Amino acid sequence: MTVVRWAPSPTGRIHLGNARPALLNWFFARRTGGRYVLRMDDTDLARSTREFADGIEVDLAWLGVTPDLLVRQSERTALYDAARDKLIAAGRLYPAYETEDELDRKRARARLLGKPPIYDRAALNLTEEDKAKNEAEGRKPHWRFKLDGRPVQFEDLIKGQQTVNTASMSDPVLIRADGSYLYTLPSVVDDIDLGITHVIRGEDHVSNTGTQIEIIEALGGTVPTFAHHNLLTDAAGQGFSKRLGSQSISDFRTEGYEPLAVAIMATLTGTSLPIEPYAGLDAIAEKLELSMISHGAARFDPAELDSLNARLLHTMSYEEALPRLSSMGLEGEAIWLLLRENLVRFPDIVEWSKLVTGPIEPVVAEEDREFLDLAKAMLPPEPWDETTWATWTNALKGATGRKGKALFLPLRMVLTGRHDGPELKSLLVLLGRKACLDRLP
Ligand code: GLU
Repeated sequence: MTVVRWAPSPTGRIHLGNARPALLNWFFARRTGGRYVLRMDDTDLARSTREFADGIEVDLAWLGVTPDLLVRQSERTALYDAARDKLIAAGRLYPAYETEDELDRKRARARLLGKPPIYDRAALNLTEEDKAKNEAEGRKPHWRFKLDGRPVQFEDLIKGQQTVNTASMSDPVLIRADGSYLYTLPSVVDDIDLGITHVIRGEDHVSNTGTQIEIIEALGGTVPTFAHHNLLTDAAGQGFSKRLGSQSISDFRTEGYEPLAVAIMATLTGTSLPIEPYAGLDAIAEKLELSMISHGAARFDPAELDSLNARLLHTMSYEEALPRLSSMGLEGEAIWLLLRENLVRFPDIVEWSKLVTGPIEPVVAEEDREFLDLAKAMLPPEPWDETTWATWTNALKGATGRKGKALFLPLRMVLTGRHDGPELKSLLVLLGRKACLDRLP
């Protein structure tokens, strides 16, 4: 049984870059018949809020993901405390008392000597007396994990064989001086506790993986399989960021985009699967293998989102559109089938529906006035059907010799007030004779 997790920090609304791992994990769970855990990484009490966490649940549901389990790290401290004690007992977690200033100076000195700015492990040499003295001075320790300092290897399902040499890293701080946990330990403890089999996340975490594998082994846990995907960037090549106010998933919802279009763009950009309409998330899950995710950049193209969104709407069935149409007071299958091919985003239908319901501003060019008078006179009698348009325009063609654009455009302009739009043969039927007469001059 596979178990995956998506682990957002509830420090803002999620954006496209966050949606990528959220959905890639979902596809993997669906493909393998596994479980999906939503884990709120909310140990940063200063920046995490319940509102953001609730918002993430809403956004995830809108995208079509339904987690099997939701856990909040803020409610699991006892587990982290137990792991902390275990690591201390094993001699893998040690207290250090340097202030940020002292650490800065150490790093500057190392750089001057041409050495990498790695923590010198001075705290490992502290005697019990030194520690007591520090405590007596009111200094609180932060806690560092003692790395093995070796090449840690793992087989990444996307990037292939990876080696992270922990010898070139500082012993990571797992616990802050105020006793709060940084991301690393809770993440590892939860992955073990929840039986996570596959960790699918952004490639910005590759070097963390080296550290995390060492900690998992120190805790006697089973190391999961890792898959690190390329990160999505905006059209300018910049990473998405909550802090920089990147467009959020809820913004796309408000702007009327289809969740499926957003999901496809968030995941299939930068993969070898084509960006095109899929029947739903399961249809993508069936096709997308992790190995199809490219190693190069994944650049989001907003114009491609628009065209994909439009393509999804152009084939959307009336049944699927109905709930939203009803809420707009726009029921009627014929109207939907007439107008859907003009939509880029669903709410565009409000504007387009005025072609049927009016009012519109008929546009009449001076040189077409006589032609339109004739058109009015030759408007066929009811009942009307889809052939009425051809009957009418053929008759006009015979009477005036007009054809092509000269024949059709003046009719379109007078009936709709614009030079593009839906099929006139269908519009005519929906309008009916009376409304057409009213629009003709
Ligand atoms: N909260 C972490 C993040 O958003 C989770 C990383 C992980 O998947 O382990 O980057």
